[in-house]
Amino acid sequence: MELFRPDAVWIEHSERNTALARTVLARHPGRVELFEGRPPIQPTTVRDGKRVLVLQRHRGAFLRHCPAGTSGLVCCNYLVINLASNCPMDCSYCFLQDYLADTPALTAYTNVEDALAEVDAVLRAHPERSFRIGSGELSDSLALDPLTDLSRLLVPFFAARRNAVLELKTKTDCVDTLLELDPAGRVVVSWSVNAAAVVARDEAGTASLAERLQAARRVQQGGYRVGFHFDPLVEFEGWEAGYAATIAAIADAVDPAAIAWISLGSLRLSAALAQAVRARPVPGHVLAAELVPGADGKARVWRGLRLRMYRVVAARLRAALGGVPLYLCMEPPAVWERVMDEVPSDRALGMRLAAGTAW
Ligand code: SF4
Repeated sequence: MELFRPDAVWIEHSERNTALARTVLARHPGRVELFEGRPPIQPTTVRDGKRVLVLQRHRGAFLRHCPAGTSGLVCCNYLVINLASNCPMDCSYCFLQDYLADTPALTAYTNVEDALAEVDAVLRAHPERSFRIGSGELSDSLALDPLTDLSRLLVPFFAARRNAVLELKTKTDCVDTLLELDPAGRVVVSWSVNAAAVVARDEAGTASLAERLQAARRVQQGGYRVGFHFDPLVEFEGWEAGYAATIAAIADAVDPAAIAWISLGSLRLSAALAQAVRARPVPGHVLAAELVPGADGKARVWRGLRLRMYRVVAARLRAALGGVPLYLCMEPPAVWERVMDEVPSDRALGMRLAAGTAW
């Protein structure tokens, strides 16, 4: 895939000599500006915010609980570490279009050592627990790596910890730096995947499915465990064949024994996100589905279709890949029961995924 080249890099004046800023400057041949206080560039939409890169200090906590911890949904006790905000790619359904509407500029945080100190303190305070921590919540985990080289800090940090696994979640094939590092079993590189038709129409600027799976094969050969997220599953004419083809391609590309987990999730649209999706120049086809309001106020694919899609995709995954750990993302107990035949407690689900136990 084409590497991200920002039109300009804006650096907070006090952060210009940080390791991250120096690395980006050495790799970005174009326009660079300094600022104090708030960045003077004010993109009006999250899509506009993707054209420049802001480097600034993060003020506040880096680590937080995944929003799936909403009551009424089965939660896998996942923690997210936000090292960047916004993403250079442009998926039609991306929740950041709404979530970052007030702070749309693509931003990488310079005080990474503060983030790692925060993680270290949590891990030391709870040596009896196993944590799964991901950096792909408010951004893609690897899209900025060719500019920031952040994985060169993150992988050794987690490789040296005994009670945590880092998940790098991506739609890119930016894995070259990872291949120079030893994850020591503590880093899972995971790909959001979809039917090829959805990738082509709804995931602008991302690596193709073939490129993602080639990257998965490479990191697996480099000693990493891998993961896959079928999220969102999208209904379209021919969806069963489309998802079957993606599953077959995964089975061809990687060894199931090194798959840490696979999740299934469905479209979730707040009213503001639905409006943002409608306002896109090409709205994509995710809005073609029949959506109904869920308990959390977000519009979702109606439950009967969700159940059918989960069952079909889960059955195909089990047939192609054997007993890989499967889980549902942001679904209530009733859906778990009907797809997985059991409802795990949040703690049990988190522990089973951390241990890589088959579902
Ligand atoms: S790759 Fe992920 S974070 Fe980036 S636009 Fe797509 S859904 Fe959003």
